[in-house]
Amino acid sequence: SASPNTPLYRLHEEASRLYHHVLVNTVAGQPALNYLTKRGMSRELIGQFNLGFAPARGEEDLLVKYFTQKGIDYQLMRASGLFTEDQTGQLHDRFFDRVIYPIKNANGQPIAFSGRLLTKKATENAPKYLNSPETPIFNKRRTLFNLDQAKKAARKEGHLTLFEGFMDVISAFGAGVRSGIASMGTSFTDEQVAVIARTTDKLTICYDGDAAGQNAINRALTMLAASRLTLRVVQLPAGMDPDEYVQANGQAKFQEYLAHAEETPTAFRLHFLKQGLNLANQSELLHYVEAALREVAKVTDPVERDLYIQQLAKDYHLNPATLTGQVQELAATAA
Ligand code: ATP
Ligand code: MN
Ligand code: MN
Ligand code: MN
Repeated sequence: SASPNTPLYRLHEEASRLYHHVLVNTVAGQPALNYLTKRGMSRELIGQFNLGFAPARGEEDLLVKYFTQKGIDYQLMRASGLFTEDQTGQLHDRFFDRVIYPIKNANGQPIAFSGRLLTKKATENAPKYLNSPETPIFNKRRTLFNLDQAKKAARKEGHLTLFEGFMDVISAFGAGVRSGIASMGTSFTDEQVAVIARTTDKLTICYDGDAAGQNAINRALTMLAASRLTLRVVQLPAGMDPDEYVQANGQAKFQEYLAHAEETPTAFRLHFLKQGLNLANQSELLHYVEAALREVAKVTDPVERDLYIQQLAKDYHLNPATLTGQVQELAATAA
């Protein structure tokens, strides 16, 4: 096409192919291939996501050498985000000694990369995941990992599934959950909400089963509240992320868990609001019940409201009629 960005797309396509080749066909890629295999990644999955490897720094940088030999324009290389520039203006590969996850746009074209350290040990200067910077073809706030494949699955599965990490999306895909997407490491954005709402009418959020994951679910639900999306939350067992769940329990169990552990945003909030409170203490209990009823008052479906009220009444030995009255009052004042 005539887009001024066509050369940038082509550069990413070539870099992606080269990184993948290094991973699957070369000795230099062997440690990374072992790493991915140990993490349960099949050859098929590696191919499906075009995973790659950027080798450790040698005498010459892989991409610098490859593109220079092809006579690629210096300014184009500079603009691509694939390189860093030293004080002399000399370009160096941005990614080295990292597993490469191509990040693709909704059409499946690679527009950026994320590179993961092979070892667990991240430092301030060497973060666990390193992403491409923003470029004319890569807008981080709008991009969702795996949207190209997930949007097709969403037509069949009826929803998208939001995960925290790339490995979660890939493991879920291997387990048959192909509707998985992930935001770009930075937190979830309003632009991503808009992209999701244009793609599907239901979103399932499945973040890591740790405190960070719970806080992130809570934040995401707040951002999604104004959208017309039907929302569901899946909370994993404590301390596990979706990828770890698949490794520990197998693909079938993961599918089953996703299908059966869904809860509504309100049910999630009613658990979430309890965090850090001692409900044996009467004043803290009252504080919790009031906050919980405020959540319930936001629910428009009267049957769904009743379900929460009955649960709260049962859990804390309260009169359901009193709770119902309170919810109606809160709903009236909010309206
Ligand atoms: P892995 O299983 O490979 O350790 P993860 O996905 O479980 O990765 P988390 O620590 O749960 O990693 O982080 C979730 C996501 O946040 C990652 O997939 C990545 O996109 C992003 N992320 C994590 N750490 C960093 C970092 N240091 N810099 C940039 N992005 C990061
Ligand atoms: Mn996490
Ligand atoms: Mn994780
Ligand atoms: Mn993980």
